[in-house]
Amino acid sequence: MERILSGYRPTGMIHLGNYFGSLVNWIKLQSEYDCYFEVADYHALTTYYQHTDELPDYKLEMARDWLAAGLSPDKATIFIQSLVPEHAELHVLLSMLVPVPWLERNPTVKEMIRDMNLQGNVTYGLLGYPVLQAADILIYKAKCVPVGQDQLPHIELAREIAKRFNHLYGETFPVPEPILSQHPKVPGIDGRKMSKSLQNAIFIRDTYEDIEKKVYQAFTDPKKIRLGDPGHPEGCVVFAYHNLVNKDEIAQIETDCRSGKLGCVECKKRCAHAIYEFFTPVREKLQNFTLEKTKEILVEGSRKARKVAQATLEEVKERMHLK
Ligand code: SF4
Repeated sequence: MERILSGYRPTGMIHLGNYFGSLVNWIKLQSEYDCYFEVADYHALTTYYQHTDELPDYKLEMARDWLAAGLSPDKATIFIQSLVPEHAELHVLLSMLVPVPWLERNPTVKEMIRDMNLQGNVTYGLLGYPVLQAADILIYKAKCVPVGQDQLPHIELAREIAKRFNHLYGETFPVPEPILSQHPKVPGIDGRKMSKSLQNAIFIRDTYEDIEKKVYQAFTDPKKIRLGDPGHPEGCVVFAYHNLVNKDEIAQIETDCRSGKLGCVECKKRCAHAIYEFFTPVREKLQNFTLEKTKEILVEGSRKARKVAQATLEEVKERMHLK
């Protein structure tokens, strides 16, 4: 089977954007590819280096969400990035051959800097984030990387780095290909991309009350003010959520919104209910994955991942005449 690498920064719990943007795809891919999924804690430091006290909890809780949602250690290698320190060493080696302009023009990093108001406070680590991501992929010689549209520039950079390394030191790395997620970006309640840092996210572990509160604040068609007004579901955040979790009713909701028969208050109530119900099985399965069990799975996955990473790093050092 061809190998895949993907991961998430442990900066909080899993939200709808993570779930539909990546996790659903990972769960499908784990039966079709040799999958490596990382809890990317080094990456978390690129923007959360001042708040590391929450990192241990987030690492375990995020992995619990993955497991409860359906990722299986019997099918995929699930590991913690910092338990495989070879990622950091390959990052240093690759950083020697990456021109700074390649990093400065990366639109994904630019977007992150803008969304998180980091202008004037960009660290060396944040600028080099895509090089670390390339190291993550290349250390497992992954051929494919499942990503959302917004991550494509990172993969393009990983491809350029792989090609440059192969050109300089001899054929070592496969040039990775992206596998695009079928789901478009999931909007946050304010209509921007759903993100923990933008505080516009609905989490799969949210209580019904939390979900209801968030959905009631969600952006809808501004021209639909009262029951009876015809609505335009395209561009309505609530409709986008219905489309993810309420497939059986989506056609009727669209018809009733357009005709004015359905009001936004009722529509939001049904949406909150549908979101909560959709994730009930995941919340129930969380009980099967205690913190202790989750930790065991991550340690075992990291041990397995490390063997592969060590072999690649040895080869890289030989190619670079460091051995
Ligand atoms: S009725 Fe529903 S889909 Fe239509 S605008 Fe209101 S919230 Fe959006």
